[in-house]
This record gives sequence, C-alpha cells and structure tokens, in this order.
Amino acid sequence: MKIIFFGAGKLGREALELFETENKTADEVIGFADNRKTGSYCGRPILPIGDVADKDTAFVITVEDPYAAAEIYYLLKKRGFSNIYCFLNRRSGEKTYDDFLQKECLSAAGWGDCILPQVEMHIADYCNLNCKGCTHFSPIFEKTLPDFKGRLADVRRLKEKFSYILHFSILGGEPFLNQEIARYVTKLREILPDTYLQIVTNGLLIPSLDGAVLDSIRTNRVVVSISEYKPTHKMIDQIRDTLEANGIDYIIRPFASKEKFLRPLTLSEHTVHPHKCISNGCVNIWEGKIARCPTLMYIDKFNETFGTNLPNQGIMELANCPSGAKLLEELAKEVPLCGHCVACEIEWENCKAKPALEDFAAND
Ligand code: SF4
Ligand code: SF4
Repeated sequence: MKIIFFGAGKLGREALELFETENKTADEVIGFADNRKTGSYCGRPILPIGDVADKDTAFVITVEDPYAAAEIYYLLKKRGFSNIYCFLNRRSGEKTYDDFLQKECLSAAGWGDCILPQVEMHIADYCNLNCKGCTHFSPIFEKTLPDFKGRLADVRRLKEKFSYILHFSILGGEPFLNQEIARYVTKLREILPDTYLQIVTNGLLIPSLDGAVLDSIRTNRVVVSISEYKPTHKMIDQIRDTLEANGIDYIIRPFASKEKFLRPLTLSEHTVHPHKCISNGCVNIWEGKIARCPTLMYIDKFNETFGTNLPNQGIMELANCPSGAKLLEELAKEVPLCGHCVACEIEWENCKAKPALEDFAAND
C-alpha cells in the first residue's frame, strides 16, 4: 500500500524513522503532505493532495494537535480519501511487530463527521505533588474520590453528542491515587472502544502499582503520559523500567519543559503580565458539567477557597448543552475568565501545607 504522511514536521520525521526501522510489510511511504510546506522533507517529496490520483492511498496524520488532526481528516474525506490513520506518537510497550499501520496508528474508519478532538476527566481531584500554579487547582481539593457511576455517566452523555472522541485523558490531580483506576480503564475502553485513551500522571506512584492495574492498562490499550516534574525526574528510570517490563505504551513529557511553571491567573484588571492561554482546547468534564478548560471548570472551587470572585461564565450542564458542531462552537468561545489568564513565570515548587492565593494568582 502507498502511504503519505500528512504533516511534514517533527512528528512526521519521527513516524518515518519508526516506519523505516519497524515496518516489514510491503507498504511504502511515497511522500509527505502539508498545508503550509512545499518541496521535500526527510528526502521525500511534499505532495499536493490534489495531485494524488489514487484514492486508495493511505494517509497517516502526523501532527500533535488533535484539533489540527481533525481538520486534516475532514479535508481528506472531502477530497475523497477514506484510508486515513493517525500516528499514535508513543513509545510502544510491545517489543516486536512488523505492521506500522496496525501497531503505530489509529484507524480513522469510524470517526464520522463530527469529532470532539480532545477531552479530559479527573478521577481524583487532589494530587500527591501539589505544585504551585496547578491549572486544575488540585492542591486546594479535599482528599476525596469521585463517584464511579457519576463519572461514567458523564462520559456516556458526552459520547452521544459526537460521532467520535479522538483523545480522552484520564487525569487529576493524580489519577493513580484512585484505587479504582483499573475499573475506570476497563469501563472507559468499553464505552470508547477506538478512542486514544491516556492516563496523564506525575508518575510517582507507577513503580509501586499493583500488577492488576498494570495489566488493565496494557490490555485496554491505554497510554501512560508522564509529566516529568523535579521529583519525577529523580526516579524516571524506575518509572520507565516498570512500564517497559509490563509492556505498557508511554510518553514522557520531559523535565526541561516542566522546570519553569506559570502562575496561570491574575486578579488585576490592568495586569503587567502578558496574556496567555495554556489550556486551549483542553475540554474538561466534571460532575455533570462541561467547560472549555480546567481553569474555568474549577474556578468556583478557587473562589470558594480564596474568597475571590473570578468569573465562571461558560460552564455548561452536559444534560442540556447543545451537541456536535454547536457544542464545539460554544466551547471555542472566549469566556470572561480568559481576561485573567497570564504567563507569570515561577520556579517549580510545592505549595506549603496550606496553599495560598499567591500560589496560583498574581496581583499585578
Ligand atoms: S502534578 Fe499536575 S495535577 Fe498534580 S499538582 Fe502538579 S500540576 Fe497539578
Ligand atoms: S479561561 Fe480562557 S484563557 Fe484561561 S485557560 Fe481557559 S481557555 Fe485559556
């Protein structure tokens, strides 16, 4: 089969390297496609898709942003291509295989015509790391766990609103603090059989995980995405060894990108800090609600804890919010809280025993 990688960037290069090392089928990468580039990349031509006459050509989407991946999928469908895949971009826990398309890609055959590119859900609101600047405000949450049935009811309600959910993140807080994680993983895979499912974690609990939890992660094809904070960095070899020994797919988001942290909010109307959105598109579901980002979703908890009055408009009830394209449109709209989101750089640190307002919000 002839294959074109759509996305002539870093991910495209990595996909090509993997293809050249692992693939043993007769498939052949004939070039790249890209919305912005022409010429060649990694020694292969960048082909205008209008010139690709063979509609059986397979396209592998090699871009990181799930929203961009969805756009490329719609474009290819419109041009009459149906053999579409998305590169998974994770370190495969499986040691030997020979079919790149089957093992390293997600087939887009069942995506339909209205995709939710990305969504996340807490299975523990609190965390064992309590970073200053946490955009989910995990340090201020009580050490309680959510109702399993309630969380899954939210996922089912959300699923009904779209033809497909591309990326689903199980997170927190720290998701491995929830002893029911294997149950969540199994049930979520049942509800979302073809979605890219990942657990986003600081990784600290991985070396001490129960064998049954590790088994459920592997058998349900869930990727473990590790944010490598300072304490994680100190034990990263142990974490990697545990995942590899158990054949689990993983991604490490490296130390350097987490050394500096941001205080995400300002209380000032006339801030000196540049405006910045660090959670754009990180749609969040929680307790029967949906919001365009975690900072908005948890702002009521923030206001209640610190006696502030930051705006909470834009949080919708899953039971009566619109569906499909209309919901995507609502989720993309700027909300009043956006005016308070800034880039105020801080060193990575834990909150003290009692988190303070200044740990999350600047006043200038
Ligand atoms: S590890 Fe992540 S979830 Fe936990 S406090 Fe830090 S930023 Fe928040
Ligand atoms: S409130 Fe707006 S600017 Fe702030 S993180 Fe959410 S989407 Fe981004």
